[in-house]
Amino acid sequence: EHSKQSLYEELNMYSSVKNVIGVVSGKGGVGKSFVTSMLAVLLSRKGYNIGILDADITGPSIPKMFGITKKAKGNELGIIPEHTHNNIQVMSVNLLLEQEDDPVIWRGPILANTVKQFWTEVYWGELDYLLIDMPPGTGDVPLTVFQSIPLDGIVIVTSPQDLVSMIVKKAYNMAKMMNISVLGLVENMSYVKCPDCGKEINLFGKSKSEEISKEIGVDILGRIPIDPVIAQLVDKGEFERFDCDCLADAAKQIENIFAK
Ligand code: ADP
Repeated sequence: EHSKQSLYEELNMYSSVKNVIGVVSGKGGVGKSFVTSMLAVLLSRKGYNIGILDADITGPSIPKMFGITKKAKGNELGIIPEHTHNNIQVMSVNLLLEQEDDPVIWRGPILANTVKQFWTEVYWGELDYLLIDMPPGTGDVPLTVFQSIPLDGIVIVTSPQDLVSMIVKKAYNMAKMMNISVLGLVENMSYVKCPDCGKEINLFGKSKSEEISKEIGVDILGRIPIDPVIAQLVDKGEFERFDCDCLADAAKQIENIFAK
């Protein structure tokens, strides 16, 4: 707790952030950015001031999802984040690169240092929630990020195939080792809904999420179907317009946890 306090003190001095939530996954491509953004939008629709810190430096996808093309600028307050149409503050390495498709070929310590600066140098203003799209996996970079930003809790994103392996438990154990509370699991791409009859089809067989959640003693915050309509919104940079209540309960649970 003591070190968390000191990390909080390193925040950009003109900003105040009430709650910091990390979104993690055992590996890339399971929808970590998707879930980060969906939670951000749902909490923002409830009237909270929200920021997204894109800590997935080598695979930054947040700006594109929201159609943000402008670059971040700096002034005497710090680095000024960009914002979505509905005023979610966003900071990502993509807002600093000349070309969006420039590869980030930095080594681990530089990656971690950049993320740290997104905490210490960015003028976030007053936020109720800062959501962090964490680097995937349990390697060196995510570990350093865990140690450099005061996380109040994490959400673990999994795909159905993920649940079969030990990946989820690894992510869970890493959080535990760092004394960070696990808010719950989100199972992404867990089914598709038939557009004609509405029937839910489990593409990967019966879900294992309940089994795992019992085993590690963590709640399931929600299950998200593969949704081609939202996938198209992502491609158009219009993610914020999604219409899906699949994480509404998750947002409510998060609200309740931090209201205490
Ligand atoms: P990660 O951050 O874990 O690497 P992303 O969130 O970038 O993964 O998701 C990978 C790709 O899959 C993206 O193009 C994203 O829009 C798409 N995607 C993720 N979840 C869903 C979903 N539930 N329905 C449709 N497309 C999805």
